[in-house]
Amino acid sequence: MPVVRELGIELVPFRTPVPVAVPDGGVFRTFLLAEEATRFDLILNLPKFKTHGMMTLTLGVKNMFGLVVGAAKPGWHLQASRTALFADMLLDLWRSLPPGLSVLDGISAMEGNGPGSGDPLNLGVLMASPSALALDNVAGSIAGLPVNMNPVLYQAGVRGLAGAEREHVEVLGEAVEDVRRPFVLPPSAARVDFTLPAWMSQPMRKSLNSFPRLNPDLCTLCGQCAAICPTRAIELYKKPRTGGVVDRDRCISCFCCQETCPERAIDIVPGRLLRVLKKVNLA
Ligand code: SF4
Ligand code: SF4
Repeated sequence: MPVVRELGIELVPFRTPVPVAVPDGGVFRTFLLAEEATRFDLILNLPKFKTHGMMTLTLGVKNMFGLVVGAAKPGWHLQASRTALFADMLLDLWRSLPPGLSVLDGISAMEGNGPGSGDPLNLGVLMASPSALALDNVAGSIAGLPVNMNPVLYQAGVRGLAGAEREHVEVLGEAVEDVRRPFVLPPSAARVDFTLPAWMSQPMRKSLNSFPRLNPDLCTLCGQCAAICPTRAIELYKKPRTGGVVDRDRCISCFCCQETCPERAIDIVPGRLLRVLKKVNLA
């Protein structure tokens, strides 16, 4: 904020949703995005290099989700609750209002239980590209992430989007190998290409997914997690230091609650079967 004030930069809250069409070839047709962002010739996208419970990493493409006006964000988690579909939604949203330049701040990155409760990582990397997808591609490589654990990149590859093929992205400056630092991933990180038939995965949903758990020692009962939850799955207890409970039948594992919690009081816990599958490298 001191820099923003010093340079006299105007801060414009995103308040007014307007329809923006997705270019041809999208999984989605249109988005309601901030009208305030459509007024400019050039969008400069400034993501942070962080882990993310649902998308494993949150980088340039995911940062554009910020164009969805406030309270509509949880709605998208409901509408596109499957990981692959959410990644497709992010890709279409990015394509509908593409930034002219994305600058990824990985000077101080985040690993572990991101994006809300991760640990700082002194990565010392600053990256820029006119393609947020190409940027994410190289960033995934720096973080040592296989493509099948990077839903945005994986779905971009399935759809043949430019920037998804690592060998087609030219890297200038430092070599990726010289700055590579495998990240500690969120406990929920899993392969996006691992699928079971619906008749098997549906009954085992609770064991195959990861779910949030409130830590009563840290929770102040502020209520922010319950307020943002798109499925109203969180019930807070009334007494301090008791936390609350997550209804796993309702929870869609979007992890908005964890991202919102100001006290880092929400842990993500993988289901039993998911833990086993991860151990044998199947998920
Ligand atoms: S947001 Fe965090 S601190 Fe607030 S009620 Fe939820 S878990 Fe507790
Ligand atoms: S409890 Fe958390 S992870 Fe589950 S649906 Fe609500 S906000 Fe998403």
